[in-house]
Amino acid sequence: MKLSEVKYSETVIITKILGHGSFRKRISEMGFVKGKEIKVIKNAPFNGPFEFKILDYNVSLRKSEADLIEVVPVGSFDETLNGNHTGVIGVKTALAVQSQKSHIINVALVGNPNCGKTTLFNHISHSKEKVGNYTGVTVDIKRAEFKAKGYTFIFHDLPGTYSLTAYSEEEIFVRKFIYEQTPDIVINVLDSTSLERSLFLTTQLIDMDLRIVAALNMYDELEKKKIEFDYTGLSRLMGLPFLPTISLKGIGLDRLTDKVIEVFEERDKITRHIHINYGNDIEESIQKIRLKIKEDKPITDKISSRFLAIKMLEKDRHIKELLSQYPNFRDIENTSMKEIRRIEVLFDEKSETVITDAKYGFIAGALKETFKNPFRKEKTRSEKIDNILTHKYLGFPIFTAILFLMFYATFNLGSYPMNWIDNAVLWVNNFISDIMDDGMLKDLITNGIISGAGSVLVFLPNILILFFFISVLEESGYMSRAAFIMDKIMHRFGLHGRSFIPLIMGFGCNVPAILATRSMRNRNDRILTMLIIPFMSCSARLPVYILIISAFFSKYESLILIGLYALGIVFAFITASILNKTMFKNKETPFVMELVSYRLPTMRTIIYHMWDKTSHYLKKIGTVILLGAVIIWALGYFPRETENSKKSASTTENMITGIQYSPQSGSGTETHGQSGQLANSYLGRIGRFFVPVMSPLGFDWKMSISLIAGLPAKEIIVSTMGVLYQSDVDESTVNLQKKLQNEVHQSGKLKGEKVFNSATALAFLIFILIYFPCIGVVATIKNEAGSWKWSVFIILYTTALAWISAFVVYNIGSLFI
Ligand code: GDP
Ligand code: MG
Repeated sequence: MKLSEVKYSETVIITKILGHGSFRKRISEMGFVKGKEIKVIKNAPFNGPFEFKILDYNVSLRKSEADLIEVVPVGSFDETLNGNHTGVIGVKTALAVQSQKSHIINVALVGNPNCGKTTLFNHISHSKEKVGNYTGVTVDIKRAEFKAKGYTFIFHDLPGTYSLTAYSEEEIFVRKFIYEQTPDIVINVLDSTSLERSLFLTTQLIDMDLRIVAALNMYDELEKKKIEFDYTGLSRLMGLPFLPTISLKGIGLDRLTDKVIEVFEERDKITRHIHINYGNDIEESIQKIRLKIKEDKPITDKISSRFLAIKMLEKDRHIKELLSQYPNFRDIENTSMKEIRRIEVLFDEKSETVITDAKYGFIAGALKETFKNPFRKEKTRSEKIDNILTHKYLGFPIFTAILFLMFYATFNLGSYPMNWIDNAVLWVNNFISDIMDDGMLKDLITNGIISGAGSVLVFLPNILILFFFISVLEESGYMSRAAFIMDKIMHRFGLHGRSFIPLIMGFGCNVPAILATRSMRNRNDRILTMLIIPFMSCSARLPVYILIISAFFSKYESLILIGLYALGIVFAFITASILNKTMFKNKETPFVMELVSYRLPTMRTIIYHMWDKTSHYLKKIGTVILLGAVIIWALGYFPRETENSKKSASTTENMITGIQYSPQSGSGTETHGQSGQLANSYLGRIGRFFVPVMSPLGFDWKMSISLIAGLPAKEIIVSTMGVLYQSDVDESTVNLQKKLQNEVHQSGKLKGEKVFNSATALAFLIFILIYFPCIGVVATIKNEAGSWKWSVFIILYTTALAWISAFVVYNIGSLFI
């Protein structure tokens, strides 16, 4: 009987927990496990919650949850067997019945038509026990009950289906059977000779979060073809056991029953629930719909919320009907409609087609690694392209070339529009300078706001280009191939191939890259990837690199730039290795890498993604960077003591144009005394406070201040340097690079010497590459990893590593200068 039917104060013993995987997990974590004795202490009327006593504590369950727990009563045995109530015997008898009942395994055979279900069914049950035929409403199903290996098996031979959508009566029937009869195990019978098609159904069963054993039937046909098939590998990838069977001859059926028992008793080591990854866009939609569905507890006890969400995206009318009984159905439906629209606009395709494509991508990825058919000619265009792009020897060089092209375009194409923006900002600044009277407000607007935000806005083109490339690579389907190519290399460092995409995205901005790790199911893999993303040099660091490199390494510009990116990658991998050996001790969880068909990305998708990311960048300029610039400005402006420290238009101009390009000639006024004012400002005082820590790296107080200013966002380092390095020489045409080159130490044992030489400049670059990612990243890691622990770790680790690396570089470098 069901736990929900038990009367008040009765004691029962659990025989079985039904329902999908995550429900069973949650319930057993609450203490409801097979063989446990429980007492009903409250049985609320009107579908209210039930309350139970397990061992010594009370637990309450909803009726829908109690519906999925099978029990045998203890009390009833007292009366029927003894007539009198010696509780001990009652419990003993109940336990015996419990043990008997919990040895009943309900099995459903699910598979395509003609894959051999009925043959398997007959063979496994025939000679042994009765086989009955009974008719469902429209379709036939067969049921057989037999004893084997100490268990009672009840097999159901369901009608053949290719899918579990709601197109045909058969499909609806099979689905209903699974929800309503909640079989303990689903045997998914596959036709081994057409795996690709058969596995489609498997992906739907996986979505449903069921306990599955897959029978690779007609294995004799496969063997005849001399195909190399690593089915244990496939089992590991898909998280469910695959066993070869030849049901016509009864071969492999014994192993199959053994496996069914193992999975039933939760002894099978391969079985784990995986998620088929539908790609970031769809996953985002699934997540949104799922949250709405989850508000309806009763249904998600029975059917996995992820499955329901996917079905809503596929516009499944039966699921809609099912959900329509729930109070927030309108809400669910509206969310689904909105998401469907978003996806259909984005992909220019029906949402159900997009999901189907993703499923086939998953299957193609799984088979690519395990199934080698030398005789099969490539059918699809995608497979032909893949033959080249993921080629054993060609794959890697092609990939490197694509990356190189991406960075080359980012830096070189970007420089033209960069100049335009630069000039526009300059023009605005001059204009405001001209119409406003000198004073604090003018200084705030020109030196604080416009130059602060402007110096960062200049890099918008580079960022757009980078995001353009990343979007094209993602949308075309190449990015997942890149993951495929990189998988082996990544494994050496304890990383997963799938970590690769977030890492590449990290070159754009670390924050969305960290969000992209959501596609990784294994928590350890995910956190590990998150922690090394900050080593991927994000676009915010680019302005600083360009400034310093163009000032001090004019000969080897691109070499140093690429070197910095490469160094970041090296540190990322070393960190991954170390963390993996110490903190994570990652067990390898194999994963399918989806190979979704190549598609020509539409302009619409690309613009959508570019805008998505660019708006993020613009928002950052409007908020964090602006605020940072104003704070730095204020700290440098106050306290005001001298009168001669007025700032002028020319100063601002230098600041912006100084980043990279030759400055315009402006109306030169006195900048004299600026650095005196700065040194005495709050900013100067803070900077000097850090001198003892930073001087071993060869950094002066202005550099230290710039680094601190860069904590909210690294772009601010540039704008801060623009404010700080005002030359005492009255020379308005000198750009920031020149000023940096001319800067000398004002005091200390290095007094009179140049602040920047190649060693300090390099140490500074490396420090910027590695230290404290930025506040946004730290906050995102906190959110995604769910605790401050990892955020604190990343702050301390990166900053310490930055210091040590800069120290080493500075000291070694100094030997040669
Ligand atoms: P169902 O539609 O899934 O119930 O499939 P059936 O059990 O009716 O089988 C379809 C056909 O496949 C029959 O002709 C079977 O004899 C054949 N068949 C079933 N299992 C095997 C097998 O393991 N190997 C081979 N070669 N043929 C099989
Ligand atoms: Mg049949």
